[in-house]
Amino acid sequence: MQKDSKINKSCCFQRHGFLTGMVFLLVIALLVCGNFRASPVWSADMPVVIVDPGHGGNDKGGQGPGGQLEKRVCLALAKKLEAALDGRGAQVIMTRTDDYGISVDQRASLANRHQGDALISLHTGASRNSAANKHCIYYDLPPGGDQGPAAADHDSTIARKWDRIQRRHVRASALLAESLRAQVDQLEMPDGADVMQAPMALLHGLDMPAVIYETGYITHPTMAEKLENQAYLESLARALAEGTMKFLRDSS
Ligand SMILES: [Zn+2]
Repeated sequence: MQKDSKINKSCCFQRHGFLTGMVFLLVIALLVCGNFRASPVWSADMPVVIVDPGHGGNDKGGQGPGGQLEKRVCLALAKKLEAALDGRGAQVIMTRTDDYGISVDQRASLANRHQGDALISLHTGASRNSAANKHCIYYDLPPGGDQGPAAADHDSTIARKWDRIQRRHVRASALLAESLRAQVDQLEMPDGADVMQAPMALLHGLDMPAVIYETGYITHPTMAEKLENQAYLESLARALAEGTMKFLRDSS
């Protein structure tokens, strides 16, 4: 009996040893296949790009005729842009990674904290006129205009200074917008993309070149369907990543 017991223990140990080995091999296989997402390896010379999916949580943004929501389109496009930039050698920081609300100040604060080299905020257009459809790329017109560096402001409060920090980056932001347009215009668009300068609350406080990219109008029936098409979002993300990296290469 004693002998049998030892044999049983030995078999049991061997069985557990076998199982442990199998689990070990499975973990290795997952790592090799990339199913287990390891932390990205970033080096200091890699540019930092902040990707900002607009809206989130209770803030749904625009809504399409088929129930499409701007906040979902923005996040889907942002994740594809993150992957496209990552594949081109950028460190990517997302201001939100899921469906939750985040304020303009929180977005700007996060972006500045990570010392981004560029920021792309993603939105869709929306209009009561369902025929309206256009791609727009906005760069900021800071309060008081875009002339002169922010440091030359005579405002004494820190809040006002940060409110105008984008001033020092306006020219670079315009170049970033043009670089994105050059790539996006190669895709099949209704009338190409417009680059416009306008006062944008999100952009005022950003200490880096920054733009808001507005995809076509989610209120346009055909565009709304297109914005749910993953292949379309993929090609858009690739164009935006290419435009961003070209801007970073040219300005370094
Ligand atoms: Zn929006």
